[in-house]
Amino acid sequence: MDDYEVEYDLSCPDCGHSPLHSRDCINLFCEDGYIEEFLDDVEIPGTGYEVKCQECKGTGVERWCPKCGANLSGDKRMDEQFREIEKLDEGYYKSEPQI
Ligand SMILES: [Zn+2]
Ligand SMILES: [Zn+2]
Repeated sequence: MDDYEVEYDLSCPDCGHSPLHSRDCINLFCEDGYIEEFLDDVEIPGTGYEVKCQECKGTGVERWCPKCGANLSGDKRMDEQFREIEKLDEGYYKSEPQI
């Protein structure tokens, strides 16, 4: 599912484009930006320690610029995925004149 939210009150620090797109962090173990890690093999929920999720950097959401593809939160390896998502929407952008 390539679904995303549109964030109208945010703009891209790289190219200034607004709105930005975002989605919930896709890391299955990520809860509100944090992942529980365990010191031993006995993984009892609540006994581990919380580390910041690398994909969303503790925010719980991944955010990117639909215009220049800048990844604004998290793992740089996600850049490619964000571009793939935007390719699906390319038709919309192409129908408008580019300045
Ligand atoms: Zn996350
Ligand atoms: Zn941008």
